[in-house]
Amino acid sequence: MKSRFGLHIRLKSSLFEALEKVERLQHRVFQTVLMLKSKEFLHMTDEQMQIFSTMVQKHCDQFFVHAAYWSNLTDVQSRGFYSLQKEIHLAEQLGATHIVIHPGSFAQDLTMEQRVDRIVHAVKLLLADSSNIIILLENSPHKDKSFSCSIQEFGLLFKKLDGCQRVQMCVDTAHAYVAGYDMTTPQKMNAFVKELVMTIGKQNIGLLHCNDTKKKCGSFLDEHAVIEYGNIGMESLYHLVHHQDLQDVPVIFELPALDESLEVDIIEQFIHMEKLDL
Ligand SMILES: [Zn+2]
Repeated sequence: MKSRFGLHIRLKSSLFEALEKVERLQHRVFQTVLMLKSKEFLHMTDEQMQIFSTMVQKHCDQFFVHAAYWSNLTDVQSRGFYSLQKEIHLAEQLGATHIVIHPGSFAQDLTMEQRVDRIVHAVKLLLADSSNIIILLENSPHKDKSFSCSIQEFGLLFKKLDGCQRVQMCVDTAHAYVAGYDMTTPQKMNAFVKELVMTIGKQNIGLLHCNDTKKKCGSFLDEHAVIEYGNIGMESLYHLVHHQDLQDVPVIFELPALDESLEVDIIEQFIHMEKLDL
């Protein structure tokens, strides 16, 4: 079934194993990481990468790589930036269509303008250094020195990135909620989407991380919950993924560790709802 709904798949020992799961579930989109538990990037020969890339193209519409958590766009001299450049090359060799990046934390206090300028500079270097992968910048659950939990700050970023083709935002609902955006009813979710679309622009929203959270609105704490047991709630999340302004945006669920059958149940409910007139 062709669908824009998929899972974040935990990398155990090999990417081929992750892709087997995608095929088994008949998903057309998925997300995974390229970093093993040992905190090293996985090792594959050029031939293995070529085979993997061909298989991905055959079975998937979109393949999202989630960059390592130490990635850093706030300082282009940092190890976190250097490592991200390597990771993007690897992702492109593997046929990834997108890379999701947490921009990271600034070492010092800066004005919003200065913060945005630093991220713009880093993004432009990454675009120049890559060929076709789309860079997705994810909103943060943290405040102060992190970039960024604020839709307004992303709005300024996209204004300054005007004309750059391969950069969009990944909107994580759990992160937005703990950062103070109340979305616990369909009406409140509507208001959130309206603010998002008006500030960022519909064309700049490239991915939804449809997650729920155990933490409170405005707590700036990050702990994902199983959908149905979190504070945002299923009804609001349904409303988001089927919102008329977001109907074509792919959706990835970053669920806590669950049995595969439960993962399937959750996604099936969202796909099934797709047929309803909300
Ligand atoms: Zn996320």
